[in-house]
Amino acid sequence: MNLAFISKNIYDKPLKICPLCDSPEIKQYYIINKYNPQFKVDRCSACGFMFMNPRFSMHLVKNLYNEDYYSGNAEYSYYDERDAETYSRFVWERRIKKIRQYVQTGNFLDVGCAFGGLLKTASEYFTPFGIEISKYSGSRAKALFGENIHIGSLSDHHFKHSFFSVITMIELLEHVNDPIPAVTECYNLLKKGGLLIIQTANMDGLQAKILKEKYGYFMPGHFSYFTKSNLEDLLRKTGFNKIKVFYPVEFGLLPKLLKSRYNFKSFLDYVKWIRIAYYHYISKIRFGNFAATSSMVIYAVK
Ligand SMILES: [Zn+2]
Repeated sequence: MNLAFISKNIYDKPLKICPLCDSPEIKQYYIINKYNPQFKVDRCSACGFMFMNPRFSMHLVKNLYNEDYYSGNAEYSYYDERDAETYSRFVWERRIKKIRQYVQTGNFLDVGCAFGGLLKTASEYFTPFGIEISKYSGSRAKALFGENIHIGSLSDHHFKHSFFSVITMIELLEHVNDPIPAVTECYNLLKKGGLLIIQTANMDGLQAKILKEKYGYFMPGHFSYFTKSNLEDLLRKTGFNKIKVFYPVEFGLLPKLLKSRYNFKSFLDYVKWIRIAYYHYISKIRFGNFAATSSMVIYAVK
């Protein structure tokens, strides 16, 4: 899919201050020109936060998450998790097991729930709820969980505050153009003692620093690029107290290996396990703000 077919209202007005810390010290950092239309990424000198600027308009964004996005036909795409469900379940089950070390049961909200795969696994122990901006995938989640699924965003849902025991945002926050209200809303939706889980790339990771503008995370749907410290600060500012960062994820290597077989076509594909294992273990190398790769998952308790 070539996004250039959307000829009008491609960009919003450029931001003059950092959307995370309000500093006017923002500078153009990268031009991402492998997509059409191209976009620019600014970096805030005060806090290190990176963000698309000017951002793509909502008019364009609404056209991103269609059937092509999920079927891999789009230039910029996700996968249709329904095809991969048998394999993805290994990761979902392990994640739910980890979550249950913190919270055993209650109302579970997956923000960006897509087809509802994680929620299906969660529903063994929790009451599942979801928010999904894409009508295409969200309507499939709705077929499973009915009115518990809201097609829309964190700014227009009908859920009650202090209602959820767990909220997950897996590879979601980078899609959000205004992260402070989004995380604040998650805080309000959680009960006291509730758990928020965020998975997004750590721009302080060596992986992102070496690859620079070629880093795969720079793509049209991604507006916000955090460092680990950006996220920790944001979580503290919004009221979360206990914060724990996992590298690369909060579970071990095995579920990832089992999930990877989804794309395997022959026995030779098992060679890929070497690369996956290498990435997993090298991701454990970190000290202070340094991390070898850019994978991280953050758990935060209200
Ligand atoms: Zn800033």
